Amino acid sequence: MNGGFRALEEKVFDRDLCVSCGACVSLCPYLRSWQGRTVKLDDCDLAEGRCFDYCPRGRVDLDELHRKLFGGPYKEMEIGKVLNVFMARARDSVWTGKAQNGGVVSALTDLAIKEGIIDAAVLTGRGTNLLPKGHIATDREDIFACAGSIYTSGPTLEALNRGPWNGDERIGVVGLPCMVLALAKMRTSSLETQTPIDRVEMVIGLFCTWALDYKSFMAFLRERFGDLPIGKVDIAPPPERLMKITAGDELHHIPLDEVRGFIRSGCHVCADMTSEFSDISVGTVEGEEGWNTLLVRTERGEELVKLAESQTVIESRPLPGDKLSHLREASLLKKRRAIDAMRDRGGLEEGYLTLSQELIRQIQSESKEGA
Ligand SMILES: Cc1cc2nc3c(=O)[nH]c(=O)nc-3n(C[C@H](O)[C@H](O)[C@H](O)COP(=O)(O)OP(=O)(O)OC[C@H]3O[C@@H](n4cnc5c(N)ncnc54)[C@H](O)[C@@H]3O)c2cc1C
Repeated sequence: MNGGFRALEEKVFDRDLCVSCGACVSLCPYLRSWQGRTVKLDDCDLAEGRCFDYCPRGRVDLDELHRKLFGGPYKEMEIGKVLNVFMARARDSVWTGKAQNGGVVSALTDLAIKEGIIDAAVLTGRGTNLLPKGHIATDREDIFACAGSIYTSGPTLEALNRGPWNGDERIGVVGLPCMVLALAKMRTSSLETQTPIDRVEMVIGLFCTWALDYKSFMAFLRERFGDLPIGKVDIAPPPERLMKITAGDELHHIPLDEVRGFIRSGCHVCADMTSEFSDISVGTVEGEEGWNTLLVRTERGEELVKLAESQTVIESRPLPGDKLSHLREASLLKKRRAIDAMRDRGGLEEGYLTLSQELIRQIQSESKEGA
């Protein structure tokens, strides 16, 4: 038996590991999302619960999950199972103007809806005061409204749980690695009964090193910029190490070290940088402004990307070898840090890390060699 609400409290909330992905919200009357946090309204004594079963910071048997979803054990210790790697950008300037990088995520979502591959997509929009919020997009306007990155984490998956759904839609989801892992857990859970996870036809995962805590980051922005409206927020790749924030009409550069203190504690134990359980993973290409790195992981992901290329929705190029090596290194570094952070919290001994013991040993020995 995996555990219920009490396990969620003890193993996740009390250890400050919740990342507010929203997977446990709107499943029952007891958990709600408030100001970027998942909060409990009342106690629940069920010995088993979907809340804990779906939690990406709960126990995960990565090998088992991989076998169920991809038909084989978890072997690739850097960026997960990949069929194809390349760089791409959207051709339509509608996306490139507002999107975070090359606009590929928005362009692919738009194409998937236009072609009837999905009827709706669960995206993340900015609510009032930059609060990230799950949003069900059914047309280009909705997708456009959600384009760009919000560097705080929020309850995107609540929108999947809550709907409203008619019951026959095919659904797409765009999410961070924690959300993509939660979706994989939902899909393979023996407790699953009510969410529309069986109708999720396409998962586009984002690369992510960390996300910020909403409340503390907002307090920081208010102290810095008062009531000025905040526009695009971007993170310049190394060696710059800057957060670029448009406040009012001005672009400000803030050293990343000034915001690191707001990184969610639960992000430190996350071992996945590239959303390894998605159909397609998308991130930036360091040093190539306006381009995305794409990792195509499944056949249905491949079909969507091929369609996008054939309809000239995206243009693509091979990803240079040095960029791929760098991505692998960065991804491995995130795993290594997660192992250390999890050990510090006692979770490694309890088997909470989402990696097999053999891979943990391999990653640690690589880290010693590379140190
Ligand atoms: C918190 C965070 C950390 C990231 N860290 C990295 C990183 O370390 N390295 C890297 O290469 N890329 C990172 N990215 C991904 C990158 O910022 C772009 O999202 C990605 O390259 C896709 O670009 P695009 O132009 O195709 O996206 P767009 O076309 O602009 O689409 C972006 C999509 O992201 C979704 N989104 C925005 N904010 C959130 C959020 N908080 N939670 C869930 N979904 C969201 C929106 O629904 C939208 O559909 C991060 C993104 C986020 C949100």
